[in-house]
Amino acid sequence: MNQSANPFGRYFSRPMKMFLTVPVWLAVAFVAPLYASDYVFINVNVVPMGTEEVLAEHAVVIRDDRIVQVASMADFTAPDDAQVIDGGGHYLLPGLAEMHGHVPPMHSDNFPARYLDDTLFLYLAGGITTVRGMLGHPNQLDLVDDIDAGDRLGPTLYLAGPSFNGNSVESAEQGRRMVREHKAAGWDLLKIHPGLSLEYFTAIAEEAASQNIDFAGHIPQAVPLDKAMAMGIRTIDHMDGYLEFVGATDREISDEALQSLVQLTLQYEVGVVPTQALWATLIGAADREALEAYEEAKYVPESVREGWQRYLDNASQSRYYTGDTAQVHQQNRQRLLQALHAAGAEILMGTDAPQVYSVPGLGLKHELAMMGDAGLTPYEVLYTGTVAVGRYFAEQDTFGQVAEGHRADLILTSLNPLEDLSTLEQPLGVMASGRWLARETLDEKLAEIEAAYQ
Ligand SMILES: [Zn+2]
Repeated sequence: MNQSANPFGRYFSRPMKMFLTVPVWLAVAFVAPLYASDYVFINVNVVPMGTEEVLAEHAVVIRDDRIVQVASMADFTAPDDAQVIDGGGHYLLPGLAEMHGHVPPMHSDNFPARYLDDTLFLYLAGGITTVRGMLGHPNQLDLVDDIDAGDRLGPTLYLAGPSFNGNSVESAEQGRRMVREHKAAGWDLLKIHPGLSLEYFTAIAEEAASQNIDFAGHIPQAVPLDKAMAMGIRTIDHMDGYLEFVGATDREISDEALQSLVQLTLQYEVGVVPTQALWATLIGAADREALEAYEEAKYVPESVREGWQRYLDNASQSRYYTGDTAQVHQQNRQRLLQALHAAGAEILMGTDAPQVYSVPGLGLKHELAMMGDAGLTPYEVLYTGTVAVGRYFAEQDTFGQVAEGHRADLILTSLNPLEDLSTLEQPLGVMASGRWLARETLDEKLAEIEAAYQ
């Protein structure tokens, strides 16, 4: 846990700027309301996620976007100015993260105008309070400020810029320039897509190191997996390139090959965003009927659903499709996830929403189930979307646990998620940066979205 952060640091940062321009006596007069408590959860069983335990009968106090107190109900008195949320013996855990998510463009002719805000809302409704956006669009950085300022409802966003790929990069020098431009523009991350030559990839990696910005995503076919790792790729998403590197997309992977992949990952401290459910669809290992029966698909526009159908119609043309060997490929992927996890590699939760049949937030359940099938316990699954993500973003903020000083990203669930992750499918409420969405609010908005897309 990151104890070094001052829990009040971020809380004061914005108001303090304002004080610089007003007389001291006036500033003092303003201080009192700042201590006012916004929300108090009482009678909750806290699942803090720093350790595998439940803190029975606790209270959690929220001010602004921070958790400022976690205390036993036995010695707790609620501040009188707070809005009290009686948890009724239910469970409070940290909000989850989507580490390979997508946020639609601000303007597009392909989608209804409301699609962007609906997508942001769906993430929240699924308990996703942090999204690492993996493909930036022009003006998208404005979204971060809009959400921070409360002008727009959505998860906290950390964004990769537009993609580095075989089309967008035409020379090593231009690749380097793009890196500098992305850094200067304020993107958090460089997104690597297929199609880059080894020369261009190397140039981008070198420039990224000198500009101190991470690069992550895919492993281009021209770049050997171990070289990409050695050059410092921060996360490899979809475990792209892993099985290809040891020739195990069409036959059972050997234990030696599995261990060599694990050792490389540990040696170069690469994070992995498995996106197992999505990849099962892409390689052709998922059951089409089951995909088409996904109830949550009603919350995305018809044009998006049609795109998914078209994808399946032409699945065999996808570069990732493995047809006849999809099942063994899929088993290898599950074994790889298990082995990486068992060895202590950095595994980060992600679904690639809203890619084919991956509905933002609400589709997370499929990924959770597959991580469970790979052998992770509920605590270990949740860890990949909470504590592990807090560590990943430790330089930007403190979050990922129910603990003092952490960002107030919370999910209230009926049952103990450490015993049954399916309780996350119907949260009793979600808090994102201190903004509370009760079940009623979630249901009203979901019904409205469904009606809009019928
Ligand atoms: Zn993606």
